[in-house]
Amino acid sequence: MSHIVVVGAGQAGAALVAKLRSEGFGGQITLIGEEHVPPYQRPPLSKAYLMGEMALERLYLRPESYYAENGIDLHLDETVNAIDCADKVVIAGGHQLKYDQLALTTGSVPRRLPGSIGGELRGVHVVRTLADVDAMVPEALEGRRVLIVGGGYIGLEAAAVCAKRGMQVTLIEMADRILQRVACPETSAYFRDLHRSHGVDVREGIGLARLTGESHVTGAVLSDGAELPFDMVIVGIGISPATSLAEAAGLEIDNGIKVNALGQTSDPSIWSAGDCASFPFRGNRIRLESVQNAIDQAELVARNMMGAGEAYDPHPWFWSDQYDVKLQIAGLNTGYDRVVVRGGVPLVSHWYYAGERLLAVDAMNDPRAYMVGKRLLEAGKSPAADVIADTETDLKTLLRA
Ligand code: FAD
Repeated sequence: MSHIVVVGAGQAGAALVAKLRSEGFGGQITLIGEEHVPPYQRPPLSKAYLMGEMALERLYLRPESYYAENGIDLHLDETVNAIDCADKVVIAGGHQLKYDQLALTTGSVPRRLPGSIGGELRGVHVVRTLADVDAMVPEALEGRRVLIVGGGYIGLEAAAVCAKRGMQVTLIEMADRILQRVACPETSAYFRDLHRSHGVDVREGIGLARLTGESHVTGAVLSDGAELPFDMVIVGIGISPATSLAEAAGLEIDNGIKVNALGQTSDPSIWSAGDCASFPFRGNRIRLESVQNAIDQAELVARNMMGAGEAYDPHPWFWSDQYDVKLQIAGLNTGYDRVVVRGGVPLVSHWYYAGERLLAVDAMNDPRAYMVGKRLLEAGKSPAADVIADTETDLKTLLRA
């Protein structure tokens, strides 16, 4: 009987094994994960779960019983240390497991502050796993002072939750503006104003010189020389794809585990999907860090492991929740040369164009703009900028045009 082994029991790994079964794969499936809980969704870790508004079981992607009921061997608390591609064997702990096909859905690892500037002090946290958040929550108490390092989505979401928990929040971003890597200045300004209106001290163009404290963090020295006291620190400075296992096995790496359009690595028996995989996209090679990509790519890989031969053609979407604002993003804005603004705060959308071509939409509390933008992008349609900017335009009519 053919054996598929999947390393990494997160969003992509869980989607992959479920798809194999729902597509009728009758062979043996083993899903190996190094965390101690069954596959779960990460987005609530910086939102409802951090706020204490979501029970643990609701994080699970499927009930734990699902795996046994569907003939999936789920190995938790087990780290795969090596792959022997020649013998088609994975080595986890002391034992070996033979595979016919292997998928690597190892996700990513959060960047940490170096120990030399206090990154290893107690009270300094990252937000990647359930264990990270469970360690942070008891410290995130009303009235305490928290420094958030990094103004990307994770840092901003954490800042919003901490502010809602009654903490005194300072957020520093080294770049000129928050969200610089991922969004236009208009979207940055929207969220800067939103956070400031909730009392968050947002400081842009400011880095961290070092954290202070003996064993537990007590403060920080910022790049402008300011010295401030803090009770805890949350670090949201990005992630790196988890490629070390693949690299040691001799697989090609290129800003992630390099896969072709099918999701196959440089070894045709080994596949990869999710945060860790870089894939060809419109003449470039990219990696996406989102739930949509983890699920869609993993499901495609499952079908391709069964011989479908389909190329990955993603329609990216993403969301972020901060306070009472839901940001929904459709498309990828890479290469935009102008932004068309539709509406005004609080219900506003930013439409990214390259010339006349629509690339992406950021919609703040405007699900209609997001939904229409997403469908226009999927259909390859690009409405004229002035039509979009005119709030008299009923967006839905653009879908029929
Ligand atoms: P993961 O879900 O990280 O799973 C990888 C798993 O592999 C991990 O459990 C890891 O422990 C395991 N693993 C790694 N190496 C080994 C090994 N050698 N042996 C065994 N196991 C191993 N995306 C959105 O679209 N919207 C959001 O709002 C959003 N919010 C987020 C908030 C937070 C706090 C975080 C951390 C992420 C958020 N994301 C969001 C991103 C999204 O969660 C990820 O893109 C998604 O989880 C990627 O899935 P994955 O399966 O590739 O990786």
